[in-house]
Amino acid sequence: MKQAVRRCSVRRKAFMCTASVTQEGDIFQAKGTHTHAADPSVRKKVELKRNVS
Ligand SMILES: [Zn+2]
Repeated sequence: MKQAVRRCSVRRKAFMCTASVTQEGDIFQAKGTHTHAADPSVRKKVELKRNVS
């Protein structure tokens, strides 16, 4: 069965999120713990800040 690993894309100077999700067919298995709040809008906010400065 195909297996895919998706890593969390949150990476900052202070920390790197080591959480990842392993997908095997329809089964998702979370590995590790997110070191940040699970807020999908965080990324947009960061991009906005980048544009302003
Ligand atoms: Zn994360």
